[in-house]
Amino acid sequence: MKILLATSNKHKVFEIKEILKDYKLYAFDEVLKPFEIEENGKSFKENALIKARAVFNALVQKQKNEFLVLSDDSGICVEVLDGKPGIYSARFSNKGDDKSNREKLISEIKQLGVCESKAYYIAAIAIVSSYGEYVVQASMHGKVMSEERGENGFGYDSLFIPNGFDKTLAQLSSNEKNTISHRFKALELALIILKMIKKGKKGEKIY
Ligand code: IMP
Repeated sequence: MKILLATSNKHKVFEIKEILKDYKLYAFDEVLKPFEIEENGKSFKENALIKARAVFNALVQKQKNEFLVLSDDSGICVEVLDGKPGIYSARFSNKGDDKSNREKLISEIKQLGVCESKAYYIAAIAIVSSYGEYVVQASMHGKVMSEERGENGFGYDSLFIPNGFDKTLAQLSSNEKNTISHRFKALELALIILKMIKKGKKGEKIY
């Protein structure tokens, strides 16, 4: 079973490959020429499906029928910011890189006169294949701080402390993050679907 990841985010590819160790995973740019996908959905699930469908259609056009496509749409929702940045997490600041996104988050929290807030990450994972379309979603709850700690991870990890921990995700190892994260939990659900697709309806091998 060959799975094409509909993302060019190297951090996501790294985490997904670590979690789905037993599968043959291919990064988007290993198989297709990169192209723009307009993420104009209103939810993480919609955006995950938009990405996976676009890549699956590109594969069909190239007659690369041996792949199924898996996408990840994710982000962080901060309580004192009424759920922002949410689906706009990757493009929260004008520059849209991780560092300036974190700086904007810190500045918005501080403007409200607080130094931390409850928050949660969400990951929606979509699977699009000739067998059907599926989307699952999971979250990780905790709090965001207004100062950075740690060097690991990516995105908002140096600001986020998961419930039950006293360290940010950027102070945890990738192994530790990968047993509690929104992405890990959503991929656990996706695994059930992948196993079902592999077997097929009547037990025949499809991919
Ligand atoms: P997407 O590529 O449109 O799904 O945007 C995802 C954005 O959400 C990333 O660029 C990060 O800013 C943030 N994000 C999602 N998952 C994580 C994570 O596990 N750690 C840190 N930031 C994340």
